[in-house]
Parts: sequence; C-alpha cells; structure tokens
Amino acid sequence: MNIILMGPPGAGKGTQAEMIKDRFPIPHISTGDIFRDAVDKGSELGQEAQKYMSSGQLVPDEITTGIVEERIAQSDCEQGFLLDGFPRTTAQAQALDQSLSRLGKKIDLAINIDVPNELLIERLSGRISCQECKRVYNLSYNPPQEQGKCDSCGGELVQRSDDRGETVAKRLEVYSQQTRPLLQYYGKQGLLFNIEGSCGSSQVFTDIQKKLESL
Ligand code: AMP
Repeated sequence: MNIILMGPPGAGKGTQAEMIKDRFPIPHISTGDIFRDAVDKGSELGQEAQKYMSSGQLVPDEITTGIVEERIAQSDCEQGFLLDGFPRTTAQAQALDQSLSRLGKKIDLAINIDVPNELLIERLSGRISCQECKRVYNLSYNPPQEQGKCDSCGGELVQRSDDRGETVAKRLEVYSQQTRPLLQYYGKQGLLFNIEGSCGSSQVFTDIQKKLESL
C-alpha cells in the first residue's frame, strides 16, 4: 500500500499519519520531519534546508527528491509506505513516479485533507509539539494536561519557528501556488481521495481508514 498524504500546512497530516501508522503497518515518511531532524543535528543537509524552511519556502527539488528516492528503496518500504508532505511540486511528483517505476511500484492513493485558510491559520498559530517525542498539541483544541509539558514523555513543548506570523502566510501562499496543482495531477490518474478536514481528527481518520481498508 503506497500512500501519499496531502493537504495544506495545518490540515492535520501529521496527526492522521500517526493514526494511520498505528492501524496499518507501513513506515511514515515525513520530509518535514527529516529536514527538522537534520536541522536539530546541525548536519550539512540541515544547514541547507534551514535557509528555506525559516522563510516558509520549499527546499529545492533536487535535495528533496534524492532523500525520498533513497528512503523508499529501503527494505522496510517493501510492503508500502506513507508519504507525508511529499510530493509538493509537479517536478517532485514526476520524480517520484520515475523512482517508483524503477522499483516496479506505483502510488495506490493520494489522500487530500482540505481545510479552509482561516482555520489553518488558527490551527497553526496554536500548534505546539514535544521536542522529544514530537507529539503534536493545539493550545485551543487539544492542550496538554500540564502547560508546556508533553503528556506522553514529559518533554518540553515548543512552537515550531515556521508556525509564526509571516512564515505561516508564506507557507500557505507556497502551498496554493506550487502544491495545490498536484491535486489535478493525481485527480487525472483517478488516485485522489478528497477529505473535508475541518471536523475532528477521529472523524477524518474514520473516513481514511474505510478507504484504505477498501483498497
Ligand atoms: P512540513 O512539516 O511538511 O510542513 O514541512 C516543513 C518545511 O520543510 C516546509 O515548509 C519546507 O520548507 C520543507 N519541506 C518539507 N517537505 C518538503 C518538500 N516535499 N519539498 C520541499 N520542501 C519541503
């Protein structure tokens, strides 16, 4: 089962990916997480990625596609994978198709979680996550039991630097210019599954689960 999870920043892709991963035993590959880990480690990749992430821009396609190509060729992806936040440009989608065809694989479904912009801004500005285990909370909808502390591991809760003010606006603009056109790319191939994401995460997951079980 080779799945793509799409949607604007703040649509709930990370939350759904966690729920999908618990129910279906396939690795969750988030390019955003890969870049954030590299930034935390201060690696060469991290230093390069940070230049783009801090201003809400996309990391160049050559860097991003190379990382995903290597990752999906690993043995734990033999039974499938869940791509979260990739592809984000038409060039990335085409590169993914080429890599998959070399591996004798194909995409089975592209799930798109759609949420109106006003709600995205509200969600992103209240989003905090655990520095240790990466669990995500929202100050308005899903606050931690103890302020600033992760319910799961006790780690410190912080706001992502790119969830602040102008960077959020830039990320939404980049999404609508460079990523939204991909909905047509997958729609034309009959692979697109659209989901209304303004309702609660468990309702969204129920719909996704039904669809994945029918594949
Ligand atoms: P995310 O956590 O998916 O919102 O990603 C955070 C940031 O990482 C994005 O704003 C981009 O700067 C970078 N990024 C993540 N995935 C990609 C991708 N597929 N292509 C280019 N940049 C990406």
